[in-house]
Amino acid sequence: MIQPPTPALRLSLDEGALAHNWHVIAQLSGAAQAGAAIKADGYGIGARRAARVLRKTGCRDFFIAHWSEAQPLLDVIDPASISVLHGPMIDTDCDYARATGIKPVLNSLAQIDRWLAGGGGRCDVMVDSGINRIGLSMAEISDPRLGQLDVDLCMSHLASADEDSPQNALQLARFGAIRQAIKAQRYSLANSAGVCLGGDYLADLTRPGLALYGGSPRVELAGSIRQVVGPEAQLIQTRQLQAGDSVGYNATITATRAMRVGVVSMGYADGWLRCWSSGVGSFHADGSDIPVLGRVSMDMTVVDLTHCNHLGAGDWLAANYDLRSASAASGLSQYELLTLLGARFLRGD
Ligand SMILES: *Cc1c(COP(=O)(O)O)cnc(C)c1O
Repeated sequence: MIQPPTPALRLSLDEGALAHNWHVIAQLSGAAQAGAAIKADGYGIGARRAARVLRKTGCRDFFIAHWSEAQPLLDVIDPASISVLHGPMIDTDCDYARATGIKPVLNSLAQIDRWLAGGGGRCDVMVDSGINRIGLSMAEISDPRLGQLDVDLCMSHLASADEDSPQNALQLARFGAIRQAIKAQRYSLANSAGVCLGGDYLADLTRPGLALYGGSPRVELAGSIRQVVGPEAQLIQTRQLQAGDSVGYNATITATRAMRVGVVSMGYADGWLRCWSSGVGSFHADGSDIPVLGRVSMDMTVVDLTHCNHLGAGDWLAANYDLRSASAASGLSQYELLTLLGARFLRGD
């Protein structure tokens, strides 16, 4: 059997940093347990691998958004530790939850009816305390149907925890009322940024996502959270430019001297967006900085190899992708920088 070709681009993943970041958040969570949001393929880093590392590190509660995200995780983590945030939209979602042991997060009276009609069972409940996205409304928290549920986790979600906003205290006060009204084994409010707010925000369980994967939504985390992933790609060709030669689509750059350039096998189709074109994006290899030249194309990016004469086709370059500085340079959020990394990257299983 012939081996299938391996990708010319990969995501480096520092499992030690991922485990470290979970410990940092667990420490900040005080008496509360720390869980993990692993939705959107573990924020782009690979959900199976993230789940395996986090489970080994001590995490026992995992959150995904879609039912379709569950299947690849079933042989990696205990299904009873998985919550599906979007909740059951149709009866077969309830059947799937009961068959696997996964918990549905019930977000409306309609979802509660659907879950109870099929026989109920262990579940989570989400109440909307001000983000106005999904969840029961504050007016619905005294509905008698809630008393028929076997609620493991009762939660709400902060809208502005990454800012010092009065909305945080408002949501915390509403969360107090939610805790009074709904009987549950455990209560949960804080995401990564919410963990920094401390005190009653921590409740019984925190639900970090971004910080685990190297993002720091508040400055308090910037010093302790470590970078986890980095895009890397192979050089596929080098060429010699003469003064006057232009580079890439629309010839946005023209060489003012003879120079050696390389073509990296990564482009905007991989989430390495056009915002990383000339003057903004760069790579590094062997301690040298390697600037992008011209426009990023769909599958390729041209780079300046002037100071890296030893590099040629087949060598790997790492993108400069520190989340805080990449966010400042690109205008993209740290969440977007992680989750937009494309399907062509080799990710560990
Ligand atoms: C995504 C999500 C989280 C994690 O949020 P971060 O800001 O990434 O820490 C927690 N709770 C819910 C309900 C979410 O949807």
